[in-house]
Amino acid sequence: MQAVRLTAPGPIDTLRLGLSEVPAPRPGAGQLLLRVEACAVCHTDLHLAEGELARAHYPVTPGHQVVGTVEAVGKNVTGWNPGERAGVAWLHSACGECAFCRRGETNLCPQARFTGMDVDGGFAEGMVCQADFAFHLPAGLPDVQAAPLLCAGIIGLRSLHKAELGAGERLGLVGYGASAHLALQVARSWDCDVHVFTRSAEHRRHALELGASWAGGIEDPHPPDLDRAVLFAPVGDLVPPALRLLRPGGTLAINAIHLSPLPAMPYELLYGERTLRSVANATYQDGVDLLELAGVLPLQVTTSTYSLRDAGRALADVKHSRLDGAAVLLP
Ligand SMILES: [Zn+2]
Ligand SMILES: [Zn+2]
Repeated sequence: MQAVRLTAPGPIDTLRLGLSEVPAPRPGAGQLLLRVEACAVCHTDLHLAEGELARAHYPVTPGHQVVGTVEAVGKNVTGWNPGERAGVAWLHSACGECAFCRRGETNLCPQARFTGMDVDGGFAEGMVCQADFAFHLPAGLPDVQAAPLLCAGIIGLRSLHKAELGAGERLGLVGYGASAHLALQVARSWDCDVHVFTRSAEHRRHALELGASWAGGIEDPHPPDLDRAVLFAPVGDLVPPALRLLRPGGTLAINAIHLSPLPAMPYELLYGERTLRSVANATYQDGVDLLELAGVLPLQVTTSTYSLRDAGRALADVKHSRLDGAAVLLP
């Protein structure tokens, strides 16, 4: 089968990412073999390609927002049959036994393995996944629209929870891409007033169309009246201006697996019982919750599609914010 193999990391604008012929994987015990129908592109795939994730190893096939069709089922699998549609997300597996797993924090399990980093992912014609960590997807949602829900959607929802967003509160989204455009719609369904901070005029227009009440730049005048905010851009220099937007008692959650260094900042930005926290990975339950929401909300998933052989161009477009919504690869 064909797969996009990352053999060594490098700057995406010069990295030559082509298709390679690789042996088709076989499902082990507890696993599903999937034919990939669509795989969305995440900032994490870009960090992996550019060598910004410390635990990454190469060669590897990226991709962790996969919609596939079950082609074969390994031993000891229950609840899945060939021909069914399955979704695969970032969390490939967790040990299920450590203190984190017992607390329900499988996203923090030290033994957790991640799709498209620790094991080969969905930038390919086929892949295997753990049956227990695969998702049934809402019927009627096309593959291309379902794929970005599997990380952008899930981590967006977790970020809103970690930002402690309550119904009707005023939310700021700093940085605007695949995850933010989905989080915006979930927050709107909770009657939140959403303010979007992005450099791109095109992204501001898109955010306003999806129900944001304000869109502008981080440097534009804005009162310090946000209850909650989520930083989506992997830029440490945005943390002080984002904190400056919060009311006392407000929360800023950083949704980034990699962030450029945090600058020094005056304690006054945090004082007043503001909370600054990160968001790391997501649990299987986060996925179940997001897909349940997607089954009832009319989530508009904006996508740009690319053929698998154009994975490098898709990653470069994500890096330079040259698209609205999510990039999705089609084998
Ligand atoms: Zn992701
Ligand atoms: Zn564990």
